[in-house]
Amino acid sequence: MHCPHCGELNDGQTNITSERQPYPGAAALCFYCCEYGIFDKDEDQLYIRRPTAMEKSELSLDRDAQNLRRELISYKASRWN
Ligand SMILES: [Zn+2]
Repeated sequence: MHCPHCGELNDGQTNITSERQPYPGAAALCFYCCEYGIFDKDEDQLYIRRPTAMEKSELSLDRDAQNLRRELISYKASRWN
């Protein structure tokens, strides 16, 4: 699945909740650009879309989501800079 923000191919995922598989409505953090997308389904095909304004607002208020994003940004900065 390609990131709706940067277009990079996200060809794997790791789940940090108890859910085993990605599902429509689940948040997806792009490893490349560190932006959140939302899993959605078109017919039987899962894809990642940009969050709606409401979803974006919810993500910005979710401490775990923001902490995870900050950790990824920090990890990438320490590794590649
Ligand atoms: Zn991206």
